[in-house]
Amino acid sequence: MTSQEHVTHTWHGLTIDEVFTRLNADRAGLTAAQAQQRLTQFGENRFPPPARRGALLRFALQFHNVLIYVLLVSAVLTALIADWSDTLVIIGVVLINALIGFIQEGKAEKAVAAIQRLLSLRAVVLRDGQRRELPAEQLVPGDVVFVQSGDKLPADLRWFAVKNLRVDEAALTGESVAVEKALPAVPATAALGERFCMSYSGTLVVYGQGSGVVVATGAATELGRISVLLATVQELSTPLMRRMLEFGRGLALVIVAVAAVTFAVGFGLRDFPFASMLMAVVALAVAAIPEGLPAIMTITLAIGVQRMARRNAIIRRLPAVETLGAVTVICTDKTGTLTKNEMTVNHVITAAHNFTVTGAGYAPHGSFAVSGRDISADADPVLMEFGRIALLCNDATLRQHDAQWELTGDPTDGALLTLGMKAGLVRSVLQAALPRTDTLPFESEQRFMATLHHDHAGNGVIYLKGAPERVLKMCAAQRRDLRDEALDHGLWQAQITALAAAGQRVLAVAMKTAAPAQRELSFADTTHGFTLLGLCGIIDPPRAEAIRAVAQCRAAGVRVKMITGDHAATACAIGAQLGIGDGATALTGAQLEMMDDVELRHAVQSTDVFARASPEHKLRLVTALQADGQVVAMTGDGVNDAPALKRADVGIAMGVKGTEAAKEAAEVVLGDDNFASIAIAVEEGRTVYDNLQKSILFMLPTNGGQGAIIIAAILFGLTLPITPLQILWVNLVTAVTLAMALAFEPPEPGVMQRPPRDPRAPLLSGFLVWRVAFVSALLLAGAIGLFLWETAHGASVAVGRTVAVNALMLGQTFYLFSSRHRYTSAFKRESLFGSRMVLLVIAAMLLLQMLFTYLPLLQRGFDSAALGLAAWGRIVTFGSVVLVLVEIEKWLLRRVWQARRAVMPR
Ligand code: ADP
Ligand code: MG
Repeated sequence: MTSQEHVTHTWHGLTIDEVFTRLNADRAGLTAAQAQQRLTQFGENRFPPPARRGALLRFALQFHNVLIYVLLVSAVLTALIADWSDTLVIIGVVLINALIGFIQEGKAEKAVAAIQRLLSLRAVVLRDGQRRELPAEQLVPGDVVFVQSGDKLPADLRWFAVKNLRVDEAALTGESVAVEKALPAVPATAALGERFCMSYSGTLVVYGQGSGVVVATGAATELGRISVLLATVQELSTPLMRRMLEFGRGLALVIVAVAAVTFAVGFGLRDFPFASMLMAVVALAVAAIPEGLPAIMTITLAIGVQRMARRNAIIRRLPAVETLGAVTVICTDKTGTLTKNEMTVNHVITAAHNFTVTGAGYAPHGSFAVSGRDISADADPVLMEFGRIALLCNDATLRQHDAQWELTGDPTDGALLTLGMKAGLVRSVLQAALPRTDTLPFESEQRFMATLHHDHAGNGVIYLKGAPERVLKMCAAQRRDLRDEALDHGLWQAQITALAAAGQRVLAVAMKTAAPAQRELSFADTTHGFTLLGLCGIIDPPRAEAIRAVAQCRAAGVRVKMITGDHAATACAIGAQLGIGDGATALTGAQLEMMDDVELRHAVQSTDVFARASPEHKLRLVTALQADGQVVAMTGDGVNDAPALKRADVGIAMGVKGTEAAKEAAEVVLGDDNFASIAIAVEEGRTVYDNLQKSILFMLPTNGGQGAIIIAAILFGLTLPITPLQILWVNLVTAVTLAMALAFEPPEPGVMQRPPRDPRAPLLSGFLVWRVAFVSALLLAGAIGLFLWETAHGASVAVGRTVAVNALMLGQTFYLFSSRHRYTSAFKRESLFGSRMVLLVIAAMLLLQMLFTYLPLLQRGFDSAALGLAAWGRIVTFGSVVLVLVEIEKWLLRRVWQARRAVMPR
């Protein structure tokens, strides 16, 4: 075998034996030693890291912002009038600001990338003759890999065994119709989409199963060659942030317009000298521009994503962070998400008896009883046959591991394994006597599983287990002792209803003889002629934390709808335990199919439980809910759930039991498959939005206040109470200290007690505009007032300005305590001292202000001057007045809202 690239093109033209020979491998797979050696030779099965935007470009992009353009123009203007020190400082500040943005954005990008690496791919590989699940990075050419529906191809493979294998190759060819795979070689000239004996890394198995040998890994794969596909780095942005950027652009226009008018008034009407007027206008532009805001928003978002990951909600697409906070309906799977997915059979019902089964979990310890009396299982031939089918028509395995029984595979199958073992049967013995010839695996659309077996005399038998309605339709007879008799429909129907009403998942088990020559099983074999052995009832208790989370969602105005493939009565009973639905009404998939879109839209308003539902019903549900104006989160795990996940506003895939296909389609992946994590993600989503809004509410008044100071000074012909340089200083210090604190704010106490945010509500709600204007006015009054007071009492302009700067900073500091909660009082221990981050940034800010006020170097640079104790007293008093006034405003607003019984705006 030479270089991988060299031979890539020809694999599909070779017979499978030639492929194996070239790869120096065979169907038995590689040994660990061989794999290790090849790993060093070919490298890990991984693409070269996506070309992260170069550091230089990322730095340059920091300047690509209208607000910064305005600043740069200001720098040019100051240079034109040869005010070099101002030019330098403006440029300095722009640079420092860009540097801060660059560093913070880099950190945020890294954090987000690290979280997305949590979603790495795994592959089932034959090593040393055993099936192992390994990280896909460890695959090497020659490895034998097994895939099934829902998997993503981990490398380029040549198939040597396929069963109904269909692969969606859209990622590679753009063709969205799945391709049926086959074994024969194709002409060497065949296009990618016609190489039926091959599959390529990154494509999705949508149906069936297959075994193949790895021919290329990492950058040598077809996907690796079209590296453009991989170079996409997620932009750190959400709808709110984009709207904020747009707002910034609008703001820049307004600032420029106001500056022009101010200039005209000052220069034309008031006869200010040209140069000082130009300086004032530059000051205005500098003052009003919130240049630090984009970086703060990026940090807030990244922190939100990290917090969610820590709590098991891994964000694949960033806008979902925000959408989560606006979700009004969560449609969730029942099994495994709301329930524990630890299934135990506790009833077996045959034509003759009703057995109860003791024991909990997968440990095969338990016994059978009829009417309270223990019986020995092997005395009942029907029960024993039931147990045999339970063990053989089954794809799960149970292994004992330090006294713990560990399940691989479907929990429903696991429950049946345990049942068979409780009956004293040994699976390996049965498998040896009745080897499996073929399988129809369980699919949630079909709701049954069937296997074909032959004993050594050649007699064939088909075993079947599945949802009782499906199985009963295929049966004409039932087994009693050693005879078959006519099926008693009424009896079984009553038993099914009884089991389901108790919240149990019901399965029916049946069998039928097959011709000795039959080697393959098809759906045509599963229509009629089966003999029913009985039913079993499986319990799967709700998760305690899911019950709490459902209640939380309800309090938060988020409706929870449960979707399950189980029987309607089972679904209603479990729903009642969870607080979903009314315990009696469920809509079944069959009923849903009878409805047109209008009827369905109506029905989803009143129904919370959906039973016997298939993935395509999920898609219709999402569509109906969205047509009704809801913001929908939808969970899913199977490959067929992908369309519904894509359609939902927030698609949520299961991280543990979910297929790659579902994860690819989803915005969020749950690390623990637990419904409670969805509720947490909603809470964190609301918090991120809150914190973004808090940052905006905190930052804008600084700019508003400063802008107003300059305009006022010009209108009234005052000396500028604060110079452009000082304004830049204030903005910079605020951005690196105070404003950072709000990105770290924990969820507000009432965050899950209020209704979801209206996604269509404008960014700058009336409330937001009012609060910004109000606080701007306070800062304006304080800074100008103190400046005038100081200069009127004999202080120099430099002292007056230093007081004004410190008044702005202290006013903001006190306002920061208010900003932690937009509506509720700040006069609480928690609000004042509850956040270490707040105290930390205040300490940092104070240190910087001390340097600004007393360090000769900065005094020279910024024209500041040392202050006496009395001046500080006045400044601190002003700061506390800001806090008190904002708190009075909040109190008044609360009263007004209460009186109007209105919901507080957000
Ligand atoms: P859910 O959406 O709650 O996970 P499923 O679609 O997995 O429901 O199951 C629907 C029905 O199919 C179950 O009520 C059961 O009767 C049957 N069933 C579930 N798992 C299996 C299995 N592994 N083999 C056969 N039948 C099954
Ligand atoms: Mg299931």
